[in-house]
Formats: sequence, structure tokens, C-alpha cells
Amino acid sequence: MNDNFTSLKQLLSGPIQITITTHQKPDGDAMGSSLALYNYLLQFGHRVKVIVPTEFPKYFNWMPGVPEMLIYPEVQNVADEWIKSSDLICCLDFNTLSRIHPMDEIIKSLDKPILLIDHHLQPDTFQWMYHDIAACSTCELIYRFIHTLHEEPNISEQTAQCIYTGILTDTGNFQNGATNRNAFLIVGDLLTKGLNIQYIQEQLNQSSTESRLRFLGNSLLNKMTLRKDLGIAFIVVDKKDAKTYNLQAGDTEGLVNYPLTIQEIQISVLIKEEREITKLSFRSKGDINVNEFARAHFEGGGHKNAAGGKSILPPDWIIKKIIELLEKEKKKKNG
Ligand code: 5GP
Ligand code: MN
Repeated sequence: MNDNFTSLKQLLSGPIQITITTHQKPDGDAMGSSLALYNYLLQFGHRVKVIVPTEFPKYFNWMPGVPEMLIYPEVQNVADEWIKSSDLICCLDFNTLSRIHPMDEIIKSLDKPILLIDHHLQPDTFQWMYHDIAACSTCELIYRFIHTLHEEPNISEQTAQCIYTGILTDTGNFQNGATNRNAFLIVGDLLTKGLNIQYIQEQLNQSSTESRLRFLGNSLLNKMTLRKDLGIAFIVVDKKDAKTYNLQAGDTEGLVNYPLTIQEIQISVLIKEEREITKLSFRSKGDINVNEFARAHFEGGGHKNAAGGKSILPPDWIIKKIIELLEKEKKKKNG
């Protein structure tokens, strides 16, 4: 963050049209940061829309601003018109435009000013970058960005709910390595803005379905394989699971974390068969860098201890490939 954002502040000084977007399959931080910025900017008379590249989990439906959001593939023409007449594009919680496919095409074709607010490693370059990998979440950065725009910002209860959602989910309930001092300081301040923590707990963690819980049980009992000698666990979610358990957007969220509760397991991989490709989620403990691994072998990236990627290979082949890579590395290390 070497810019003082004077030119951006100038652009935002009169009412303008703004597009806010975030990554495919938005998670709590993607939804929270987008809707927090949306709710905050609306009070200055800007025309603002949040446009997401894919659908999002139903358990975010309670979030303030969701009814006004656009899902790009469902209303592409309307969304394209909105983007074309926008004065500013805000890209939140992702580091490279391929993460908003299929929206990336129109954004790349237009030469609009872009503001990136993000905490992922190795971001591409954009006009304004409010970027810090030490941030616990993009929502932390939204809170800080709002304070860069205005010394004493008016943070409504709605904006506070959105910021809290991203901090809570990206820190794994204030427990994973991303958790930092700011997480607690910001939440402390949000409590003075009317934030009701129990309400959000009910919305996010106590509103699931029976079939989702049975799916989690089945995945752990029957679909998890361990290679304790290599410190790795795999969970496969295939197309049959999707049908049996009527899986909806977000239903696999959190599943990848369970294998890390086993002492000998240092890396957990969730392999999820989708319509055309297989999506991968990586989680790791301590110094093991799954961002590098996902970048090098699965066209992905993310954070040191939480990254994603994709492959055209079927799940069995992916497991074989990862095991071979780890065995090779182990051999190299042992000389
Ligand atoms: P998840 O496993 O929860 O989908 O993603 C973990 C982290 O990696 C998130 O911060 C997410 O934004 C990032 N991520 C997931 N998939 C990809 C990908 O295909 N490419 C990149 N660059 N990052 C990803
Ligand atoms: Mn995030």
C-alpha cells in the first residue's frame, strides 16, 4: 500500500456508479467484504451493485444487500450494461481476474479504473491496490479502507454484520493462523455499532439441513483416505454424492478442515468432482505452504495454509499425482 489514494478519494467525492465483484463460489469473506462495502458506499449517494460470477450458498441469504445482488450468468445483459456504465470496479477477496470467470471477459475488455482490496498472496497489478497479506480477511481490509476514506466513518449495524461475517469465517472462528490482533480489535469496535454475535452464529452455523450433516458424516466415514507416512489426507466428493445428498452451493465448506484434527496429518485435500473440472481445496498446518503447491501443480493459489486449485484429471489420478509428488520430495529431503 504505497499510494495515499488521493486520486481514488477524488473519484469517490461525487456520486458515481460502482460495480463491486468477488470470486467464484463466494465464501463468507467474499460476501461479507462485498456487502460491507456496498452498504457503506450507498450512504454517499453512489449507485452501487454487487455482481458475483457464480451463485453463493443459501446460508448467506440473510445478509443485508443480498436481495439487490446480481448473479452474473443469470442476468448477463443487464450486468454487462451496468459494468459498462460504471466509473469504478471494486475487486474484493481475490488476486487475479480469472477468479471471476466468466465476468473477467467484460472487465478485461473495458479499460475501467479498478480498485483491488485483497489479502491473497501474489496479486496481479491494478490501478489502486489496498492489499495486505497480513490481514486476517478482506473484511479487515474493508474496515481499514473505510477508515482511510473517512476519519470517523459511520458504520451501520448492517455494515458491521457483513464485516464480522468475513472476519469470523476467514479466521475459522478466530482459531486459524490468519487470526491476528486486528480481528479482535475490529470486532470489539463492531460491538459498539450494534453487532449481535449470537444472531450471526444462528444464521451461519445453526441453519443447516439434515442431509448436509449426513453428507459430512459419510464423507468422514467412507470417503476419507489417510497416508499418515506422508502426513496427508484426502476426501473425495464425487458426482454421486452430489446427487445422493442433494448438495447445494457451500455444502462442502469446512469439510476439508476435519482431517487436520488428526495429529499425524499435516495436509488435507478435498477433491470435488464438478460438471467439467475437478476442484481442489488444500489446507495445511504450520510452515507447510499449500499456496506454492497449488500454484505449481494445480493452476491455483490462495494463502500459505489454505489454497485452492483445479484439474481435469479424475479424483483417483489426482491422489496418485499428489502422492508421487510428495514421495519424490520426501526422497529428495532424505538424500
Ligand atoms: P477454498 O479451498 O476454500 O475454495 O479456497 C481456499 C483459498 O484459496 C481461498 O482464499 C480462495 O480464494 C483461494 N482459491 C481457491 N481456489 C483458487 C484458485 O483456483 N485459484 C486461486 N488463485 N486461488 C484459489
Ligand atoms: Mn478472504
